Amino acid sequence: MVSHGWLALPFLALLGLVGRMAAAQTASGWNAPDRGAKVMALAPGHGVKVPKPEEFLKEWTRGQVALWTKDHLVADWDRLAVELSKAEPPDAQLHAGLPDHISPYGLLVKGNADKDAALGAFVTYCPLCGHRRTEPYVGIADLDPRHYFHARTHCCKQDLYEREQDMPADYTLRPNTVGRFTHLDGTIKTVPGCRFTDKNGWEWELYPGTVVAYLRWVKYTLSMVWSYQEGYLKTGDPLRAHKLAALLDRIADVYPQLPFAYNNEWALGSDGKPLTRAEWEAVKRPVREGDVTVFGKASGHGFYGKWNRSAPVCNRGWRLYPIREARWALTSMRVCASSRFDFALVRQHPAFAAYSRLKYGDPQALERKARGQLMTELALVMKAMPLATDSQYGHATELYGLGGLLQDPYLIEFGAGHAESVLYAGHYADRLIGQGAPNYRALLNPIYDDLKSPTGWLIFQPDFLREHPFFAVASTQRAELKTA
Ligand SMILES: [Zn+2]
Ligand SMILES: [Zn+2]
Repeated sequence: MVSHGWLALPFLALLGLVGRMAAAQTASGWNAPDRGAKVMALAPGHGVKVPKPEEFLKEWTRGQVALWTKDHLVADWDRLAVELSKAEPPDAQLHAGLPDHISPYGLLVKGNADKDAALGAFVTYCPLCGHRRTEPYVGIADLDPRHYFHARTHCCKQDLYEREQDMPADYTLRPNTVGRFTHLDGTIKTVPGCRFTDKNGWEWELYPGTVVAYLRWVKYTLSMVWSYQEGYLKTGDPLRAHKLAALLDRIADVYPQLPFAYNNEWALGSDGKPLTRAEWEAVKRPVREGDVTVFGKASGHGFYGKWNRSAPVCNRGWRLYPIREARWALTSMRVCASSRFDFALVRQHPAFAAYSRLKYGDPQALERKARGQLMTELALVMKAMPLATDSQYGHATELYGLGGLLQDPYLIEFGAGHAESVLYAGHYADRLIGQGAPNYRALLNPIYDDLKSPTGWLIFQPDFLREHPFFAVASTQRAELKTA
């Protein structure tokens, strides 16, 4: 006869085990004092290290220097900087090419123009010929690829000039007045304007020079930055590091004073006058969904109550974020493109310090200027909008890099968490599971590319691909998807 006692032994042992497990759970489970910390350790992005600014990409930059110096002897970086500052395009020309005023383009002075025309001069409406453009992406004019101070309208082939010296004798839009526009720093920009009455009898004050300046801001700056970036990444060429330093130097002056704008409108302060820097800086940060600021109620795509800044044209309010305002920290000029980080990538290069010494007599001056004037401003921008993790706003690399440069925990945490969750969020949102339309699906491509790029996210988190096995598979299988 088998005694119940014998049978009971393992049962009791099991009970004991369960009891111990229950006790363990009670001790370190839901109510455990360290639970919060343990959960936080699992939160997206918390495994990502944050280097100190002086260490940030230092080793990587050393590699870029070595890439060049293995085949080229650089005896004296300061002497080289003098040469590079004169190399085509000379630094002075580079600086002169980057405008400091990029909107508005034309204002209705008198007449019963409809709202689209009245607010869309030279963007969606041509006041010269009455043409309306249905796709408001690049405005109604093209920059002359051989002459960056000249553009021509698509519709009526009217030449537009920015500089007096380029205007032909019979130029019909010769300035006959000036517009005055207050920038964020309080500077008043005086802009040559032209009073013009169109065939409807509507009277305009047009700023053709600003149309040219905006197109150059986008296209010239774009092509410059791209070509220098690419060359620098491939070869470590000091010329490119030098010119990137020169561009950054100018952008640090220009960007922070740009007003919040959209087409032919600009943001106003609570007194109804152009927004001042004081009121802009007084916005309580970080702004969260639903917060009310001088820009109105912060929500969804309505960043800043629907203002843009470095791209005043197109996609009101939505543009500021996806166009990656932070691109000057970590340049990605394309709306959707793999990220590069200009400032972060070149700031520890000896050519960068040599540029600074040549221009300011101090090797650290440009670093201080870029950080103090530009990066700080970008942090103000990013923290004045509710940051989102939708893949359309996929710029984890920029946010994290900006945060790293400034040692700003909010941006670091958001960027790092974003990198680890954006693809999951993006797939689940309206990309692959929802609509699955090819153009929407393709919005994920730059995020895939950036996150697995050796010059993208992997700089910060070299183990990212190993730690996220989902990623490598998804990044190749996306091409296999077929949707009707
Ligand atoms: Zn031309
Ligand atoms: Zn026209």
